[in-house]
Amino acid sequence: MRIDLITLFPEMCEAVLSESIIGRARRSGAIEINCHQLRDFAFDKHRRVDDSTYGGGMGMLMLAEPIALCFEHICEEVGEKPHFIYLSPKGKVLTQQKLKELSVHENICLLCGHYEGVDQRVLDMYVDEEISIGDYVLTGGELPALVLTDSLARLQPGVLSDDECFEMESHYDGLLEYPQYTKPKVWRGVDIPEVLFTGHHENIRKWRREQSVIVTAEKRPDMLDKATLTDKERQLAERIISDKNHAEER
Ligand code: SAM
Repeated sequence: MRIDLITLFPEMCEAVLSESIIGRARRSGAIEINCHQLRDFAFDKHRRVDDSTYGGGMGMLMLAEPIALCFEHICEEVGEKPHFIYLSPKGKVLTQQKLKELSVHENICLLCGHYEGVDQRVLDMYVDEEISIGDYVLTGGELPALVLTDSLARLQPGVLSDDECFEMESHYDGLLEYPQYTKPKVWRGVDIPEVLFTGHHENIRKWRREQSVIVTAEKRPDMLDKATLTDKERQLAERIISDKNHAEER
């Protein structure tokens, strides 16, 4: 997958995307990420990329033309029109399911807004969808774009090593992850659940699945509506939720 970011702060994005797992994946060629300075596509001598809004109101808006020029430049480089996403608090909130859907695209372009946002006309003309990272407002689209890039990149083949596999993690199958423990076996007098020490893979798998149901019922019962559970697992979840409700009433 190739991801192109359109931003006023490419150095900020590069700093994050050059480190750790994503940095290693870029260097190995498992994923290509390019950060484009929007100001390079400004057309006046001051390299201006924003102006005041028609109709009055506070704040500045990003101009349509530099964004269009930058996107067209990326289209030429890529050889096709990438799936174009504007990071916006007005967008659909990002989920693991959405990431799975986005994974099918070979080329994705992310537009980071700033100031009051972006001239609507360039969004209507080029953008395929708007994505939000939550119901709150940040100063710019860089952090949301980095969140999206990181979470998307780690689903690509060759980005995670085998022992960093994402398939057992929270949200992958509609449940939260089970509790995990590392050495020492006893830490400050607290032991690990005995089953994890038995080496019995099937019992460990069953324990983890049960714990996932329990943790999800305790922390995010809203997720259980969409999760695929056996009758026994659903009964367990209902019992946890009912116990929690009773405890809260007391
Ligand atoms: N005036 C806009 C509104 O009320 O919807 C908010 C603009 S915000 C201050 C500046 C930029 O930050 C946006 O253009 C967007 O790119 C980004 N942004 C802010 N909050 C975001 C969120 N929750 N998810 C994704 N992007 C966000």
